[in-house]
Amino acid sequence: MRDSAKHQGLRNQLVEVLKQKGIVDSNVLDAIKRVPRHLFLDSSFEDFAYQDKAFPIGAGQTISHPYTVAFQSQLLQVKKEDKILEIGTGSGYQTAVLVAMGARVYSIERQNELYKKTSALLPRLGIRPKLMTFGDGYKGLPNYAPFDAIIVTAGAPFIPQALLGQIKIGGRLIIPIGDEVQIMTELIRINEKQFEKHEHGDFKFVPMLENKN
Ligand code: SAH
Repeated sequence: MRDSAKHQGLRNQLVEVLKQKGIVDSNVLDAIKRVPRHLFLDSSFEDFAYQDKAFPIGAGQTISHPYTVAFQSQLLQVKKEDKILEIGTGSGYQTAVLVAMGARVYSIERQNELYKKTSALLPRLGIRPKLMTFGDGYKGLPNYAPFDAIIVTAGAPFIPQALLGQIKIGGRLIIPIGDEVQIMTELIRINEKQFEKHEHGDFKFVPMLENKN
């Protein structure tokens, strides 16, 4: 599959849909306009890649809705060169959006099949995260901490304590919390011990699971 003027046209339409749904961060919208989402999906989904829908990506997982990717990316308040930890690489689409926004991205995936597939795909598309690794996101990446922001792209039953300690003071964690339905939760690190919490509505993610598979 390649990227064409037709795909670019569909991406421009998707950006309009995301604006109507309330996404305002121009860095996010610009990244969505540039990242060819169809190349992160099986070719059978090519015609639908720019609809605001989730699709299967293998290993029982799904690529998030473009709106969800845009919403989480907006909450992250990414500045150029920010060091960002992503839990749940999956298809690599969210990773690619953050890289397009100028972030230095470290991404963890617990499904070996997806880790292998996506760590081969991104360099082929010319997308270079700082690090892609096979591991358990509940542990974060202590050797690379602290991060300006951490994004979790799977539904977590609770806040993983290890992640809180890996956020810079003034940085934030964006994490969907809950079982059947998750509340998009933002935790800003005020100082060594204190966090400020904001909630941003209901979403539905595949579960964040412990250990590697
Ligand atoms: N950002 C991805 C979303 C994929 S779905 C995309 O846009 O395609 C969520 C992903 O989180 C799945 O690939 C799942 O395997 C992964 N995941 C679940 N629990 C995890 C954990 N503890 N550590 C790392 N990845 C995890």
